[in-house]
Amino acid sequence: MKILNHHLCDEDGTECTFVKSPNQKGTIDPEYLVLHYTAGRSAESSVNWLVNPAAAASAHMVIGMDGSISQLVALNRRAWHAGKSRWDGKTGLNNFSIGIELDNPGPLEKRVGGWFTIWGDPVNDSNVIETVHKNGGPLKGWHTYSGIQLETAARVASALVRHYELKDILGHEDVAPGRKTDPGPAYPMDSFRARVLGRNDDDPEVFKTTVNLNIRVGAGTQYKKLSVSPLPKGTKLDVVVKSGSWRLVDVLKKVKGETDIQGWVHGRYIQEIV
Ligand SMILES: [Zn+2]
Repeated sequence: MKILNHHLCDEDGTECTFVKSPNQKGTIDPEYLVLHYTAGRSAESSVNWLVNPAAAASAHMVIGMDGSISQLVALNRRAWHAGKSRWDGKTGLNNFSIGIELDNPGPLEKRVGGWFTIWGDPVNDSNVIETVHKNGGPLKGWHTYSGIQLETAARVASALVRHYELKDILGHEDVAPGRKTDPGPAYPMDSFRARVLGRNDDDPEVFKTTVNLNIRVGAGTQYKKLSVSPLPKGTKLDVVVKSGSWRLVDVLKKVKGETDIQGWVHGRYIQEIV
C-alpha cells in the first residue's frame, strides 16, 4: 500500500474506497497514529454514522472484520476521532494524529447462555477474551479482532508510518485514559507496534513447530494454505501477532527454496525455544 495525495492506494496506485465525511475541519501534519474500536454493529453501519453530520465525529479510515478499508477523511485533514486527549505534553490529538477505527463490538456482557454485545447479539466464546483493562475497571469480555483485519491494519499502519514518518502508534485508551477503553485488551498492541515500527523492546520470542504444521494466509482453517505448507517439524519461527489461538509468524529459515515466508499457524503446535 502507498499514499498518493493523502489518499490510501494499492501498490498499483488504485485508490481505496473513499466516502467523504463532512465531519472534518482544517489541515494537520500527522505525528501519531491513534487506533480505535467502533463499538458498532458492522463496518458499514460505522461508516454510515461517521459520514453523518449528526455524529459530529469521524476518523480517517474504518477497517472491517473482513479486512475491507474505507477512507473518510484525507490524511492531511483534521478528523474528529480523539476528543479530549493528551500525549507527550500536548493536548487535542485530533490536531496531530491520524485516526483508524477498527470494526469491533468492544466490551461484551456475560449473561445466562453466554456472551452478548451491548445491543444483545450473541457472541461465540471463541471470539471473547475475558480480562481487566490495563487502565483498570471490572473484569469484562472483549471481542477479538480478526486475523485479516489485523493484517490489513498492519499494512495500512506501515504505509502511514513510512509516508508521514509517524513517531508512534497509540490507542485511544492511551491518550484519553479513564474516558476511553479502545482498542482494548483484545488488540495485540505490543506485537503490532513492534511489527509496524520495527522496534522490539523485548527479546524476540523464537518458537519451533512441534509437528509438520500448516501455514495459512489468515487466522483460521478456512484460510488457504501457503504453497510452502506444511512447515517441517522443528522449523524456527518468530511470532509477530497473536489473534485468539492463532499466530502470525515469520519463518526464520528457507522452506522449499522460499525465504521471507510469513503466515498464520495454530498456536497449539508451536513451542518457545528457551
Ligand atoms: Zn476511540
